[in-house]
Amino acid sequence: MIQKCKNIVEFIQELYQTKELIPLHEPRFLGNEKKYLNEVIDSTFISSVGKFVNQFENMVAEFVGSKYAVATSNGTSALHVALKLAGVDENSEVITQPLTFVATANAISYCGAKPIFVDVDIDTMGLSATKLKEFLEEFSTKDENGFCINKTTKKIIKACVPMHTFGHPCKIDEIVEICDEYNIIVVEDAAESLGSYYKGHHCGTFGKLGVFSFNGNKIITCGGGGMIVTDDEVLAKRAKHITTTAKVPHPYEYIHDEIAYNYRLTNLAAAVGVAQMQNLEIYIKKQRELAARYQSFFQNDDVEFVVEPKNSTSNYWLNAIVFQNKDERDIFLKYTNDNNVMTRPIWRLMSRLEIYKDAQCGDLSNSLWLEERVVNISSSIIIK
Ligand SMILES: *Cc1c(COP(=O)(O)O)cnc(C)c1O
Repeated sequence: MIQKCKNIVEFIQELYQTKELIPLHEPRFLGNEKKYLNEVIDSTFISSVGKFVNQFENMVAEFVGSKYAVATSNGTSALHVALKLAGVDENSEVITQPLTFVATANAISYCGAKPIFVDVDIDTMGLSATKLKEFLEEFSTKDENGFCINKTTKKIIKACVPMHTFGHPCKIDEIVEICDEYNIIVVEDAAESLGSYYKGHHCGTFGKLGVFSFNGNKIITCGGGGMIVTDDEVLAKRAKHITTTAKVPHPYEYIHDEIAYNYRLTNLAAAVGVAQMQNLEIYIKKQRELAARYQSFFQNDDVEFVVEPKNSTSNYWLNAIVFQNKDERDIFLKYTNDNNVMTRPIWRLMSRLEIYKDAQCGDLSNSLWLEERVVNISSSIIIK
């Protein structure tokens, strides 16, 4: 096992041409980032007014093929607002996967709602359509208004948040179909999947609303930022309104027509976002090239490299490998991190965190299996 770890470390050091610390995912700045930042500073419009926010929104909407995009301060705030727009409140419950970054479950909690954890598929690592259907058949019923009611808690299951893990699309068309049947609104956590497609359509555009993140570790970044996408004009307008303190337009008066949020993206951040968007195709190409090199390295190995699921084109944002068992995984984590190659286990399941230990769960056997075996390996793109 140690020899195997050593071979992998040497391969990664060869890829990045260094024996210094290799981070998990570093940002790269290839284009107009500094130029646009200087422009913004010279203009003095560094904050919430300025052309780059609109430009960033238009570029993302066009790229993913949604009618509208609304920029926010980060992916978590985008999720929070998207869930509010889906009508999620303290009387609601929201289905999501336990295998995700904590922001997905936290955004549900910010609305006062309770998450319900339903298993993922092994091949996509995203919410399982089969397990979702099984859960709803067993635990839900329809009320006289057509709402999906949780038989155990009597609360409305209002929304469902599937997540495209590491940029690999889940079976989102089947999930949307099931949710439509049960009158559940789909909000896609597409934070990791900018540049990923399922059956030819961009991730984040299948649900009523989709959410992206531009945090420093994502495929492209603006330091911190998020985006809500939707084809619904009313929702898009409301998204803009409640992420900008619900201020009613007026030449000089401060009138706010509801208690809302200061979740706006700064023009400074948007300037970086626009510069990164201009090169998004390059980032995707380079992520996929890197993944292809890992894939051939791990061919014929009993460590399995995670490849894009059927019917999809993945951005391969974060590369992942699957060990035979937890012991091998633990040896690898220790060896790599002791040897300047940063690796991380997949997230601890939400259902196993103290903060969500009381949440209702379906059968989580796939999530538990993956939790013990999956490790993320160096995924910064290589520019030569
Ligand atoms: C990154 C991420 C988020 C949150 O994005 P931030 O911009 O960091 O707030 C939400 N969900 C998932 C799955 C993520 O990976």
